[in-house]
Amino acid sequence: MVGTKTVEVTCEKCGKLYETEAVDYIDLHDDRDLIRNLKSGKANRVQCPKCKKVMYLKRSIVINFEPESKIVVFDSSAKSKAAKEEIQKTFENVVAINETLEETGNETEFMVLHDLTKLKRLLEQYLKVYD
Ligand SMILES: [Zn+2]
Repeated sequence: MVGTKTVEVTCEKCGKLYETEAVDYIDLHDDRDLIRNLKSGKANRVQCPKCKKVMYLKRSIVINFEPESKIVVFDSSAKSKAAKEEIQKTFENVVAINETLEETGNETEFMVLHDLTKLKRLLEQYLKVYD
């Protein structure tokens, strides 16, 4: 299941405001065709319908490495340790909502990445095992 959300984007070239689908969540097990986009860094690539300017949305994408108990948040703007820790803390707060989630959370390896090269390596390892 892919989680998407309709977002409004303002074109940085011509200023046009348009709506687009942003990817929030990807389950690698179900969304094989999206792995290629992830690897090339194009998962949240959008294009202005008016002037065709291509932009990349600055959003994080949650990637579920099912059946491995691993969740990776890819956010190219989370470069600093503090930014990574903040995302990590959000995850911990979410799983603390109830006991079942907390159990799942404790068994899950959670990682925040900003580096596309590292994400690529993880995706390639995953494909080697599960493809
Ligand atoms: Zn434009």
